[in-house]
Amino acid sequence: MSDAGTAKVFVITGPSGVGKGTLIKQLLERVPNLALSVSATTRDPREGEKDGVDYHFLTEEQFQERIAAKDFLEFATYSGNHYGTLNSELDRCLEKGRSVVLEIEVQGATQVRAARPDSVQIFIAPPDESVLRERLRGRGTDSPAAIDRRLKTAEQELAQQDDFAHRIVNDDLDQAAAELESIVRTATGS
Ligand code: 5GP
Repeated sequence: MSDAGTAKVFVITGPSGVGKGTLIKQLLERVPNLALSVSATTRDPREGEKDGVDYHFLTEEQFQERIAAKDFLEFATYSGNHYGTLNSELDRCLEKGRSVVLEIEVQGATQVRAARPDSVQIFIAPPDESVLRERLRGRGTDSPAAIDRRLKTAEQELAQQDDFAHRIVNDDLDQAAAELESIVRTATGS
């Protein structure tokens, strides 16, 4: 088990549809003692998503109250909804000496970099942009209009990838997962 001295904050970012969720699932299976931060959002739950597990689903009013109370490490508006990382999520894990993984979009990642310069920032990039459209379509969770919005945002996010200390191209899933594991193990000394 890692001790509090080596507990790190890992920020995993990149455009919607790039495969962040799949890579993080693999990472959690490969590296013990990592905790995934559960974000807050105002978007509607998708089929099968559970409150407190996939997200803390909040109303607009609740989200604004949490902003006013300064409960967020970072928050951003993405495709018309708010998303944010609660400080309490981080503290809960770090106090136990566990490293925390944040799966967030690029504006939030930039805020975390400013607030926690010691965080390890990883950008997941697609091999090319057409892959994103295919993945978002294949996932079947977003309407065509929502997919178009996400792709427009993806262009802006890809323009910022050079700002990140680490960049992984998710072309081959196994190889990308191995690269991610290696970055995390190096940072935690595990
Ligand atoms: P989705 O609606 O597909 O679950 O998430 C949309 C985008 O919001 C994804 O890029 C996801 O990584 C990002 N996201 C999820 N949680 C957070 C968060 O707490 N903060 C920020 N800034 N982005 C988040």
